[in-house]
Amino acid sequence: MSRISVLLPMLQNWSCHNCGGCCREHEITITESERQRIESQGWVSADGVPTDRPLLVRAGGGWRLNHRDDGACVFLDDAGLCRIHSKHGEAAKPLACRMYPYAIHPAGAGLTASLRFSCPSVVQNLGVSVTGARAEIESLASEALQSKRAEVACPELRAGLQFDWGRLTRLLAWIERGLEQTALSMALRLQRLLLLLELLEQSRPDAVTEESFGHLLPALYVTAERAFSGAAAGAEAAPAELRPQRLARMMLRQLVAQLLRHDTAETVAAGPQRRLRLLLEGVRMTLGLGMVPRTPDPNSVRVAFVERAGLAGPRRRVRFAELERGFGGGSREIDELFHRYFHVKLQGRAFCGPAFYDYSVIDGLRSLVLMYPAVLWVARLRASGEDRGVLQLRDVQAALAMLDHNFGYSPVLALRTSRRRVQQLAQLRQIAPLVAWYGR
Ligand code: SF4
Repeated sequence: MSRISVLLPMLQNWSCHNCGGCCREHEITITESERQRIESQGWVSADGVPTDRPLLVRAGGGWRLNHRDDGACVFLDDAGLCRIHSKHGEAAKPLACRMYPYAIHPAGAGLTASLRFSCPSVVQNLGVSVTGARAEIESLASEALQSKRAEVACPELRAGLQFDWGRLTRLLAWIERGLEQTALSMALRLQRLLLLLELLEQSRPDAVTEESFGHLLPALYVTAERAFSGAAAGAEAAPAELRPQRLARMMLRQLVAQLLRHDTAETVAAGPQRRLRLLLEGVRMTLGLGMVPRTPDPNSVRVAFVERAGLAGPRRRVRFAELERGFGGGSREIDELFHRYFHVKLQGRAFCGPAFYDYSVIDGLRSLVLMYPAVLWVARLRASGEDRGVLQLRDVQAALAMLDHNFGYSPVLALRTSRRRVQQLAQLRQIAPLVAWYGR
């Protein structure tokens, strides 16, 4: 099989640390040949697999790996290792298991690799540089896309305005240049980016043609840079005029509620009772009154950020109002985490087009920026639950692992109302205030 070249993020490390999270929080659908392969492996009770249920079950028109009552994949052992891997080697596992946490996306005639920050090792940047795993990633990409090598069209820049992968690459280079300005807080870097997007959105169609784009981009970049350079101190302090509107904060909480929702085989099996609870929690998140609904940690977050750190985890219920005060601003290490996150998602083109609900480039970039206040809202919740008024890195890491699980993967976020929310926040010019408010 011929190897495909894949563009990899430069700033990211990863190795699996066996938290078992992905084996509990994902439903693994398998191909017909994988089903036949697993069935021919001859699994018996002496191997430690459950005997009270089938190992493979129907899912949609195909098959998936089954789960135990505690949510774990039937092949997960007590040490957090895969029994298929242990008994038959890594290549014997389904492709989806071998692929995680990588995500391969088309970019014109080529491919890009992004990583899912739902894996705690990705969030913590643990392991070896992904550039060192190039051969393995390209082999996985070849296997995944062997029959689908048609060139994919670039997403529109904004609704109705054609764009191409070459101009997108140039735009992302300027955006990355802005995000690399580590002398500024991440909140300020993102406010500049939002202004750049606003200017780009307002540009006449003939200004974003292939010939004009090379002149337009540097001019817009400098305009956005100058607009914030003199106001840096004020923007860092999030003055009263930057306080987001009540409506904007409500919309952010709705986004958080959708990103926090983890559907697994175990939770779906809980039936109508769970759906009613989700509905009530959604209403409470919208109203933002009283206590924040309690959200149990996903397994990976509990293992990586609570149990392995020897902590008890968030202990007390928190009022919505407690999350609106300052939490000490983004520290350098928290800003570094977000910088790496944005770099990986931008390099992987994981924010627009086929990788992200077919969003336009501008809508997708705004959705990515909204992850900043959304993650910090959840990080504040975790810190408050432990009676702390200042964020620690692990609060933000855990929050990012919880929310990125759904970024680009939740069917709820694919709904028209979710895209409309991003556009409405932009029209109200409320994304920058949300960034400043929750970044302080
Ligand atoms: S979530 Fe990440 S660290 Fe945990 S088992 Fe999966 S790949 Fe390994």
